[in-house]
Amino acid sequence: MSDLDAFRAETREWLEANCPPEMREPVRDDDDVCWGGRNWTFKNDAQKSWFDACVAKGYTVPDWPKEYGGAGLSPPEAKILREEMARINARPPLSSFGIWMLGPALLHFGTEEQKQKFLNEIARGEIRWCQGYSEPGSGSDLVSLQTFGEDKGDHWVVNGSKIWTSYADKADWIFCLVRTDKTDKYRGITFMLFDMESKGVSTKPILLISGNSPFCETFFDDVEVPKSYGENIPAQVGEVNRGWDVAKYLLGHEREMISNTGGNDRAGSFGKAVLPSFGADAMGRLDDPLLRAKIAELDVDALAFKAMAERFMDTLKAGTAHPAQPNMMKYAGTELNKRRNEIVMSAGGSNALEWESEASNGGARARGWLRTKANSIEGGTSEVMLNVISKRILELPDG
Ligand SMILES: Cc1cc2nc3c(=O)[nH]c(=O)nc-3n(C[C@H](O)[C@H](O)[C@H](O)COP(=O)(O)OP(=O)(O)OC[C@H]3O[C@@H](n4cnc5c(N)ncnc54)[C@H](O)[C@@H]3O)c2cc1C
Repeated sequence: MSDLDAFRAETREWLEANCPPEMREPVRDDDDVCWGGRNWTFKNDAQKSWFDACVAKGYTVPDWPKEYGGAGLSPPEAKILREEMARINARPPLSSFGIWMLGPALLHFGTEEQKQKFLNEIARGEIRWCQGYSEPGSGSDLVSLQTFGEDKGDHWVVNGSKIWTSYADKADWIFCLVRTDKTDKYRGITFMLFDMESKGVSTKPILLISGNSPFCETFFDDVEVPKSYGENIPAQVGEVNRGWDVAKYLLGHEREMISNTGGNDRAGSFGKAVLPSFGADAMGRLDDPLLRAKIAELDVDALAFKAMAERFMDTLKAGTAHPAQPNMMKYAGTELNKRRNEIVMSAGGSNALEWESEASNGGARARGWLRTKANSIEGGTSEVMLNVISKRILELPDG
């Protein structure tokens, strides 16, 4: 047995012993997703025991080094763990902007002491983070951001506002882009970390078309941000005024995370799910040739996306991925997910429009469909992704 085969066998055994049956069920409600943080209440014992087991094993962040709370798995081992978790439909033990976004940026740009402090807190789910990038006048043109941090010696005084800050009202800390030099657009931004309970921080939830309020307007009124949280633990990641480099690096990871929405289901599962409503023809196939063709086309594209995602992850872990590749993955994954939800709605007919009934699971289909509209906006819009792909991957001239 090779080392990797042995690792797979061990992993399978560990998952069998530690992943409760409830944690192998599809996520149905928001609180089925464990976000951690200072104010997190576990939904049930199963969610807590799965979380605790994974924290102890380093499996909330399996490929981070052990000294930062990870399990130190090699890329092939991490891939085996992903495969084995997918095989039993294990839910992620912890969902976190710290894991998906801030962590990779800290691993790349952080001081050793920053890594020791913040990465371990992220791995243990102690601090819930939100992302303070977008402002009312600065979305796609992010570098034009105006939130300003005035240098007061041992601290900054931050004034301004952010918008579309996902879960800002639930987050403990924010990673925030703050202008610290008004004379240089690109080299005048600092990537700061601070507590959302700091005096002068307030949030106002924004109600969405789906009926949910997953994000907020965030206001900073004379917020004092200390420049240091301990020896060699500066409040900023990377150098002062060089936060744009950190911001761009993080965006690559954000886009990679959002692209995962493309790989949400298994080939064939969609057709089976709608079979009861439409019935089967004499050959046992879905008895609606037009819908059947649409689903088959989606299945084929989903398989192609999965193959592309596998290759992307392999090259990413090997350090050979094209730096603009996350943009391509984000574009393909989110457009695919929107198409999938369009088909869910057209297959469901007027029943799919139900908004509140128990039978519709609180309007899950309609609300889910509306939520996917945001997939191609969050983390950079599809139009902006196409601009980047055409310039940096296809190397087309500027239009
Ligand atoms: C669900 C969701 C969650 C989000 N969470 C966060 C968060 O946690 N933190 C955060 O900071 N932000 C967050 N955002 C904000 C998101 O990053 C911005 O919405 C996004 O970057 C687009 O910016 P904008 O909304 O200002 O649109 P704009 O930049 O004003 O764009 C408007 C339209 O113009 C198009 N456009 C703009 N520039 C170009 C161009 N150069 N070429 C072609 N077309 C262009 C866009 O594609 C779009 O269609 C979130 C957004 C959503 C939808």
